[in-house]
Amino acid sequence: MRVRPTALAALLLCVLALAAAPTGAQEVGSGGGRAQPPAGESPPALHIPAEAARPAATFDPEVATRAYLDTLSPEKRARSDAYFEGGYWLQLWGFLYGLGVAWLLLGTGLSARMRDLAERISRRRPLQTGLYAIGYILLTTVLSFPLTVYQGYFREHRYDLATQGFGGWMRDQAVGLVVGLILGTALLVALYAVIRRAPRTWWIWGSAVGLVFLTVVILIAPVYLDPLFNTYKPLEDARVRDPILSMARANGVPAKEVYEFDASRQSTRVSANVSGFAGTMRVRLNDNLLNRCSLPEIKAVMGHELGHYVLHHIYEMLVEFGLVLVGALAFLRWAFERARSRWGERWGIRGIGDVAGLPLVVALVSVYFFVLTPVTNTIIRSNEQEADIFGLNAAREPDGFATVSLKLAEYRKLEPGRLEEWVFYDHPSGRARIEMAMHWKAEHLNDPDIAAEDRAAVAPSQPIQPVQPTQPAPSDGSSPPGP
Ligand SMILES: [Zn+2]
Repeated sequence: MRVRPTALAALLLCVLALAAAPTGAQEVGSGGGRAQPPAGESPPALHIPAEAARPAATFDPEVATRAYLDTLSPEKRARSDAYFEGGYWLQLWGFLYGLGVAWLLLGTGLSARMRDLAERISRRRPLQTGLYAIGYILLTTVLSFPLTVYQGYFREHRYDLATQGFGGWMRDQAVGLVVGLILGTALLVALYAVIRRAPRTWWIWGSAVGLVFLTVVILIAPVYLDPLFNTYKPLEDARVRDPILSMARANGVPAKEVYEFDASRQSTRVSANVSGFAGTMRVRLNDNLLNRCSLPEIKAVMGHELGHYVLHHIYEMLVEFGLVLVGALAFLRWAFERARSRWGERWGIRGIGDVAGLPLVVALVSVYFFVLTPVTNTIIRSNEQEADIFGLNAAREPDGFATVSLKLAEYRKLEPGRLEEWVFYDHPSGRARIEMAMHWKAEHLNDPDIAAEDRAAVAPSQPIQPVQPTQPAPSDGSSPPGP
């Protein structure tokens, strides 16, 4: 899920960053929905550059990597670089915009007046907090809307990444707002109750509340939240389903079904995920992946996703983000008092337990997360690297992994600088992934399955695209709040 920085308590950013990480795991930009070939027709074949299909004696992983990278045209590369680099600036503008909204609510006294109104309506503290929270979420959503609509709608269309009409997009925003109102209000009521009961140690108990909340959201999302935006159904095509289930069984993943969902309603990006845990665990892939990719590519992606499950990344990230959250609230405790002693009177804030201080809380927590961007990205990215390696070993499709990484480069800059990748990337870059795949391949060139695929690639190969005519993607419908 993605949420506007000012729309919910910035604590939710942490919640959603984690919720997004395992689920938005493997997105690849693509150019429109194509139909899966019907039973009887062969699925699209893999195209391997000659340099990447050499026998062991002449295979060089660096040369093979370069051969793959060079298959992306300069125009496409410039376009995806522009899209991705623009995203860096959007992170900065979004952060500053959020601070501006907080300043507006505090500086005009609007926040204090909203609290006064809530206190006049009810004498019960939780209800006062809830009323304020609803007003806050609605108001910040409206104030942030210009940035939201530019970033989420117009810009996505400009780069041909969106398939959705404005009506459908607005419907998704409305559904997201309702979900945000329910979850955000519940979280804020619980947090402020903790702050008032434990005036000195609230930052520790508050972190625990945040963590429990995060766990619940991850648990319910696959079953109760995601279907609000897309239709999920069991994948029926046995040619795709059976190899995935076989790979799942071989790696101890207790999946009986693979689900497909209609992401082409919203976007052209390829994606798959293993989400939820315990009883809500689901192996899911989207229709863009199904329609645009060959079986080796699909297996490469699903091997990666199974890796997240087998390596317990959800639990690992709960611990890691739990620590980040403790840091956030410790920083908040320190910074809030300083800001309040300086401006509190002017802004009408009585203390940390006063809900009128929420815009300040959100602003300070967003400063913390903005500064920590490279750290949170690196936490997620290192898990993604682990899942990449796992996927290569499980699927044994280094070339499928390389070509699918190239499709991802349609919207993620293919070759960033080292520092750039460390700061901004929550997944390894395309170059890093292809390099990893080619080094894996170099160690397995004499294995019968790898050698056979290379022989097939050297023979005159089928085109990547399936033969079926294009099915236009529906331009209406819903979009997930984004991976
Ligand atoms: Zn992943």
